[in-house]
This record gives sequence, structure tokens and C-alpha cells, in this order.
Amino acid sequence: MSSAPEEKRFHGVAAAAGIAFGQTYVFALEADDLVRYPIDSAHVSDEIARFESALIQTRVQILEMQQQIAEAIGAKDAGIFDAHLLVVEDQTLIDEVLRRLETELCNVEFVFQEVANRYVESLSKIDDPYLRERALDIQDVTRRVVRNLQGKAPRPFLCVEQPHILIAHNLTPSDTATMNREKVLGLALDLGSRTSHTTIMARSLGIPSVVGLHNATEVLTSGQEILLDGYNGLLILHPNEETLREYRELERRQGAIAQQLDELRETKSTTRDGRHIVLSANIELPEEIDSVLSHGAEGVGLYRTEFLYLNQKTLPTEEEQFEIYRCVARRVAPNPLIIRTLDLGGDKLSDGLESIDEMNPFLGWRAIRFCLENLDIFKAQLRAILRASVVGNIKMMFPMISGLDEVRRGLQIVQECREELRREGVEQGDDFEIGAMIEVPTAAIAADLLAREVDFFSIGTNDLIQYSVAIDRTNEKVAHLYEPSHPSVVRLLKMVAEAGKANSIWTGVCGEMAGEVLYTPLLLGLGIDELSAAASLVPRVKSAVQRLTMEECTKLCDEVLQLDTSSAVLERCVALAESRYPELLR
Ligand code: PEP
Ligand code: MG
Repeated sequence: MSSAPEEKRFHGVAAAAGIAFGQTYVFALEADDLVRYPIDSAHVSDEIARFESALIQTRVQILEMQQQIAEAIGAKDAGIFDAHLLVVEDQTLIDEVLRRLETELCNVEFVFQEVANRYVESLSKIDDPYLRERALDIQDVTRRVVRNLQGKAPRPFLCVEQPHILIAHNLTPSDTATMNREKVLGLALDLGSRTSHTTIMARSLGIPSVVGLHNATEVLTSGQEILLDGYNGLLILHPNEETLREYRELERRQGAIAQQLDELRETKSTTRDGRHIVLSANIELPEEIDSVLSHGAEGVGLYRTEFLYLNQKTLPTEEEQFEIYRCVARRVAPNPLIIRTLDLGGDKLSDGLESIDEMNPFLGWRAIRFCLENLDIFKAQLRAILRASVVGNIKMMFPMISGLDEVRRGLQIVQECREELRREGVEQGDDFEIGAMIEVPTAAIAADLLAREVDFFSIGTNDLIQYSVAIDRTNEKVAHLYEPSHPSVVRLLKMVAEAGKANSIWTGVCGEMAGEVLYTPLLLGLGIDELSAAASLVPRVKSAVQRLTMEECTKLCDEVLQLDTSSAVLERCVALAESRYPELLR
């Protein structure tokens, strides 16, 4: 008699709340591990275009590398890359790939790798050191071309027809943005943390998720029955009857809480002693506006506009952006729509831009730094925002500000755009509030200087914590060090809120910390005026605000500022939250 398979549990990081139960689909594509998938004959020309663009991209990368090496150690050593260039220009090889593409009708990276591998095999068999070297060159270039092709490939998991729980090593934020919510019941990743953009996106889309599982793609196979618990960061393979019963009960309890929270939709987020805290929602895609409205948020506190640029072969034009901003602003009016100017870079890269290959992307050419050096891209966005601001209640903020010069330069370019539009006779809205995101420790420390130049602060705790504690926010290995309750983080937040008050500007928090009810008392006590979180979390935060008094929050904050460890701070926050709204913490 065959017994039921034994239940097995995998622990990860709880990334997006919710429970999913279904069959796994394991997408375990390592960088160089290729799957073959069929294409129809109508798409051969698309594959050829992808191939040509990957060859050009590879050529550019080799030339850049050659130049860097020539500058560093001399032209002679850089000459070794001439052989690599010959490979991407080898017409015999290219022709053979194109021929086989027509006959085999499958993805071009697969065909290219097969053809190249055959060349490598034949050359390595010949007893000639020169030719063996050439085999290595071909291998090296093949890997590069395939990687470039994969960066542009349609992702096969997006085509899975059956509802499933997607298990992947890692996904880009744009992979997640394009997921079909009907098909992807839950998401489990080997990599990632609570504040990676992939996770943020999954939360916005309401896809229950567990990340940081380390090796789920190695131990699971497609078609297994699994339960995903996004509340506690658990994957349960072959859940037994008792487990399923427990989870049905958990779902029932969560459903009841959701219903109670739903009833708060029309109420104000005001503390018991009468302080109103503005509660807004973060969005990545314009479609999320429905959810913002249905969850009763007071507008959009952070619109991550870079998602317009991800998954695009060409960058959106000024006109396209204008239409989208105008439409979103209309829908949230009279409440504010805070548009964050482009924050490309870090873990968000666009297909429409030259790939930016950096050793430390989060410390690199990101956000305002990128925009200030790509004025055509930046100005197109600013002009679109200025034009859209004729309707609704638009505000704007700059991401990743590290000091006053960047703020001043950003404001100067806004002014230039205003003058250009005026000269061209194009309609634009009146002056509106322009803020700085505070996400770099230098900006927090110099908040008193920045506060004189902007109309508001919005603290991006995801980055502020990443940069001040020096942990990569996407790296599951250091996720445990990501501590919003770190005494230094609390001090930085206090400096920003105080500088805002002293200069009569408002301060918000739009990082994930704003949606964690555990920290609501602390943030209120610090004097934060606005909290902006994923739309689905807004009712929870509202409920927390309504059950607190400013007096107890201020007292908590004063006490916490005397404590010396993250765990002591956390303990105090938990104690107050537990005493006021225990059910919201489960
Ligand atoms: C943040 O850093 O907290 C933030 C809100 O911006 P993002 O998560 O998009 O970097
Ligand atoms: Mg940020």
C-alpha cells in the first residue's frame, strides 16, 4: 500500500501576505543553462532581430573592454580581444545560425549555442595550440552573446497556462510586473529579501510570496503539491490534512480581519487624540490605481515611474508619459499624486537603455545621478509631468538625493523645462510641491540644509537602511541585518523629521517600513506626517493609527532613543503594538 508523501517545510522570508495552494512550476534557468522552446515561423524575423542586436551589444562590450584594458595596461595586451571580435563577425557561423533557425523553429540562443559548441568541439580536437586557444575564445564570446540574448528573451514561465505556484531562482522586478495574476497563485524565490523591488512588486500585485529560500529550485520539481504561506515565510510540500485544516482556519481569520478593515475605508486615519496622519499608497503601474481607491488611501505617496521603462525596447516618449500621468492624476484627484522621477539602476534596468554593467549597481549610476547625466531622458519626463499637472494634484520628488548640489541642479532643470514649455506655448500647470527623497545617509544628516530648498521630504527607508547598515537590500544572506529598529536608523529618521519641522515642511515615509504596523507608533512618535505603503496595507496602517494616541507614541519614541540595541528597540515597539492591535501583527 503506498502511503501519502511526507510533509516537508522550507523556511524563507515572508515577502507578501497571503496563502496559496497548488502545483509548483519550477523555473530554474541558470545564466548559461538554456531551455529550447519552439517559435512559430511568423516569429523567425523577431528572433533574427534579437540575434543581431545581441551581436551588436556583444561587439560594443568587447570594444569597451578592449579600450579599458588598453588604457590600464597597454594596447598590446588589449589585442587579445581582436580574436573575440572576429567571432562576433564570423559570417560562416552567423549564416549557419540563421539557416538552422529557419529549419528548426526554436529560440535563437539555443540554436546559436549548439552551432558554437560544435565549432568549439571540432577545434579542441585538433592538436594545435593556436586553434585550441580559438576554441576558448569562441566559448567565451558564446557565453556573452547568450547572456545578452537572455536579457532580451521572452520569459518562458510567462506562458505557463495552468494556475501554479512559481518557484524561481530569482526574477527581475519587470518579470514580476508582467506576471499573470490569474495564473501565478504564489511566488517562491531562492534569492531576494523583503525590500527587493521584485518583492515590492509582488506585494503590490497581491501575489503571496516567500523569498530567500536559498535552494527551492534545486529541491523542488514541477507538478508537486505545495502550500505557500506568505504570512510566515513558509513553503509546505505535500501538506497533510491537519496542516490544511490549520491553514483553512488561518484564512478564515484573515478574511474576517480583512472584512473589518474594509469597513474603515471611508474613515479618517486619525489618532485617538486627534492627530491626522496622511495615509497614501505606493504604486508601480497605473493599473494599481483601482486598488489605491478601493483601499481608501489618500492619494499616491510614491509613483515608481521607472516601471514604465522596464520591459520596453524603446523608452517611453514625453507624449506617452504625459498621457499616463494625466490619466493617473485625474483618477486620484483631488488627492495628491506624488510622481517620483526616474529611479532606474540598482535592481531596475531597462531594455531600452544600453546595459549598465556595474560592480555595485546600488552604489552606482542610479536615479538622480543617472538623470542628471541623461538630460534628454530626464527632461522628457519633467516636461510630461509639468504638462500633466494642469489636471489633478501632482507633486514630484527626486530619488537618491545625496546632497544640496543635486537638489539645486534638479530644480534648475525643472525651471529650464518650464521656460521651454512657455516659449513653445505648451500648456503647463502652476507651481507644485517638489520634494527630496531621503534615502542616502548624507542626505539624512544634512536634512537641515536640504529642507530650505524643497517643499517636503519623503524618506525611502528601504534604501536609507540599506546604505546606513551597509547591507544589499536584495541579498538574502544579509537579510537578517536589515533592521529598521537599528538605533542609528532611528536617530537618522529623527534628524530628518526634526529638520522638516524646523523648516515648516512635511515629512513622509514611503519605504516598506511605512506599511509595517509594528513601527507605526515609532514613526508617529518621531513626528512623521505621512505614511505611504502598498495599497493593500493601507487599511491595516489606518487601523493601527486609529488605535494609538500621539502621547503614547511620543513617549515610546523618547524611550527608544535611550536604548542601545536593535532588539531592545524592537521589543518596545512590539510591546506597544501588541497592546493596541495584536490581531494586526499576526
Ligand atoms: C525606498 O528606498 O525606501 C523607496 C521607497 O524607494 P525604492 O524602494 O523604489 O528604492
Ligand atoms: Mg529608494
